[in-house]
Amino acid sequence: MGRIRVLSDSLINRIAAGEVVDRPASVVKELVENSLDAGAKTIEIRLNGGGRQLIEIRDDGCGMDRDDALLAVERHATSKVCSPGDLDVIRSFGFRGEALASIAAVSNFRLETAIEDGEGTRVVVRGGRISEVATVGLPRGTAIRVERLFVNVPARRKFLRSEATELAQGMRWISRYALARPDVRWITEHGGRRLIEAPPASDLRERAAQLLGPETARHMLTIDLSRDGARVHGLAGRPVDAHVGRDHQHLFVNGRAVQDRVLTHGLAEAYRNNLAHGRHPAAILFVEIGPEAFDVNVHPQKTEVRFHRPGSVHDLVRDAVAEALGQDRAVPRFGELRPGPMDDHERNPRSREGFESGKTYPMAGEPSPFPVRPPTSQRPTEVREASVGSQPGLQLAEPGAAPRVLGQLHSSYILAQDREGLVVVDQHAAHERVLFERLLGATESSAVESQALLFPKTIEFAPHQWPTISEQIGEFRRLGFGIEPFGGASVRVDSVPTMTVGLDVERLILDLLGAVQEAKSVTATIPELRRRLITTAACHSAITIRVALELEEMRRLLRDLYATDNPTTCPHGRPILFRMGLDEIERAFRRR
Ligand code: ADP
Ligand code: MG
Repeated sequence: MGRIRVLSDSLINRIAAGEVVDRPASVVKELVENSLDAGAKTIEIRLNGGGRQLIEIRDDGCGMDRDDALLAVERHATSKVCSPGDLDVIRSFGFRGEALASIAAVSNFRLETAIEDGEGTRVVVRGGRISEVATVGLPRGTAIRVERLFVNVPARRKFLRSEATELAQGMRWISRYALARPDVRWITEHGGRRLIEAPPASDLRERAAQLLGPETARHMLTIDLSRDGARVHGLAGRPVDAHVGRDHQHLFVNGRAVQDRVLTHGLAEAYRNNLAHGRHPAAILFVEIGPEAFDVNVHPQKTEVRFHRPGSVHDLVRDAVAEALGQDRAVPRFGELRPGPMDDHERNPRSREGFESGKTYPMAGEPSPFPVRPPTSQRPTEVREASVGSQPGLQLAEPGAAPRVLGQLHSSYILAQDREGLVVVDQHAAHERVLFERLLGATESSAVESQALLFPKTIEFAPHQWPTISEQIGEFRRLGFGIEPFGGASVRVDSVPTMTVGLDVERLILDLLGAVQEAKSVTATIPELRRRLITTAACHSAITIRVALELEEMRRLLRDLYATDNPTTCPHGRPILFRMGLDEIERAFRRR
């Protein structure tokens, strides 16, 4: 007797289900996409047990007639592709004709659908086989109920995660599509609790307010840039509002939610000089691109895309966001600043050792260790109210026109006044930003100045650190260190960047190395490593808080700060300054 048998359809479906459907969230995604493809204007979703017990979705889309309802649960039955050529230019979400068949094969499944109010069709699938077909009274649209996902695939069911984890994944997809389609009404319940209640919104910001909260949405910057037939538009968060994870990033290509490294990297590049390592800005970005310029078909769940020219898409995203960030010179108001994590160097008192006592801010007239960069051309010469019109907060005056210094608070914070009120500046963060931009400019143009050490210093490394240090010696030199391998796992340093004169060389190098190692675990790109080096160097070299400054030193610092590209956020992503508006002060004294 032969050993080879042909698999039954229901078994094929069950195997294939693993590709499209791996957890409740992917069911949610497929069903939502079908509802959108059907032209729904209202989508209601009910979940229980994070979607493991129940996923129910109801839409008011075009519905299906009886024949189509029966076909829909068959594999490779789709109404969305007509000819092979269609696959390339497909604009709808579906087109594989696999989702419903796969889901029905591994759950207790019920489809109810009607093409107009009145009479419709019910199809029930149990254990991969149609167990009931009936004509029933239904409103126009489609309702699909998926109970006990993987009921007949115990191995898979066992691997489902906790209710909270599965729910979070499912909600992520719902949020993404709700952001992509502000015109659609979205309702979502979990275990009887209403999680999303989003009536049709007039634009993305209004929808973002419904889903991410009004405060977050209010402060997001408007993004819109077109180039070479492609366009990126949407909203991006301010650096000071960045989050620890990427949960608040929603990226779309031609309306389809995607997970894509080209796009996330382009986004991260835009924030490169404004964000702490490990923090990620909120972003809702839509890439519109000719369908011939990318493939979506590379991943069964269609969440990955392959751009034919990834570099140009990457740069478009980066430039679109960087432009908006560059134009946002809004000074946050005191009440708007959210408490966030402290910087490591603020938390760790060790890192405050080693500063020269009585260190002062370098004065005008003294030779500046680094060439002052000419103002960048992209810096707006006047505040463009139009581009930031919907942004709250008051704008800085023209770059360069620093507020007038009034004095210093507790030897740590500079108090100054501008047209709009009182500006409070963190002197350490301000100096850090100034040094950071100078050092960045200097390393880019190889114009870093060094100063010879009176006594060259030998630094011993642990053997496991050696590969990194030897690999990065070139980068250390670009930063202005005269550094040579010196037998065993040690180096000899005979000169340092002028900016760091007076600091503990050994500790600085070890900290820089730590920063590089940390950066390498995430990305090994040279610009990122250099940025980490510069951030660390700037942080070490900047005046600390609790240092008394002369009036003239404070004036110079504010002038330098206002001439930087980003005077509001330090390279770690913390705020540098905030304003207490005259209006707020007047309200407090009940003058208004
Ligand atoms: P695909 O979306 O790739 O075509 P699916 O298995 O997801 O494959 O769906 C099969 C077909 O069932 C679709 O092509 C569509 O014609 C129909 N269908 C599925 N869901 C709906 C819905 N909510 N409203 C109307 N028609 C639907
Ligand atoms: Mg589909």
